[in-house]
Amino acid sequence: MRLVLMGAPGSGKGTQAKILAQREGLVHLSTGDALRAAIASGSELGLKAKDAVEQGRLVSDEVLYGIVKNALENIGREKGFILDGFPRNLSQAEFLDGVLSELGMGIDAAVLLDVPETFLIKRLSERRICSQCSKEYHLEFSPPDLDGKCNDCGDELYQRDDDRPEKIARRLSIYSDVTLPMVDYYKGKGLLLSVDAVGEINDVAQRVLDSLKNYTSKRQV
Ligand code: AMP
Repeated sequence: MRLVLMGAPGSGKGTQAKILAQREGLVHLSTGDALRAAIASGSELGLKAKDAVEQGRLVSDEVLYGIVKNALENIGREKGFILDGFPRNLSQAEFLDGVLSELGMGIDAAVLLDVPETFLIKRLSERRICSQCSKEYHLEFSPPDLDGKCNDCGDELYQRDDDRPEKIARRLSIYSDVTLPMVDYYKGKGLLLSVDAVGEINDVAQRVLDSLKNYTSKRQV
């Protein structure tokens, strides 16, 4: 299965992508994770992306195209994948189709995690992440056992720069202005699956899996 996972910042894309990848044996490609790793390593790519990521703006399409093309070529045709955070605008969606068709592949479904804005703000502003293993916590819904420390590796938790209030507002407005219109692109192709993503992590994961199963069984008929 080759999937695109879409949703506003705070909709749980990263968390759901990890669960889906594990359960379905898919390669998980998160452009946000790739950019944060590049920034942390101080690479040339990281330097190009740093300012935009930290300010909650989109990184230029050209920077993303290199990362995504390379990753898709490495994944190849044998494995399925889930794209988390890409595409984020119409040009990126068209680019993705072009690269996939060059590689003799295509997207099977584009899953949209649907979460109302009030939930998004709360999820983002109280999110904390382990600086070592990247495990995510929420100060109210899934707090760590020890204040500020990861349950799994004991390392310090941090707040992403772009999870601060003024950056959250910018990210949500970019999402509704630039990313949401792209959803219609997949709708027009008959690939869109919209899933209610409010609730417990495992319940949402189950909803996504059920809706994918339903969708693939209908496509096979
Ligand atoms: P995420 O982890 O998906 O929330 O992404 C974090 C940040 O990385 C975004 O706010 C953007 O600055 C950057 N980013 C990730 N994916 C893309 C993309 N497809 N296009 C442009 N910028 C991106």
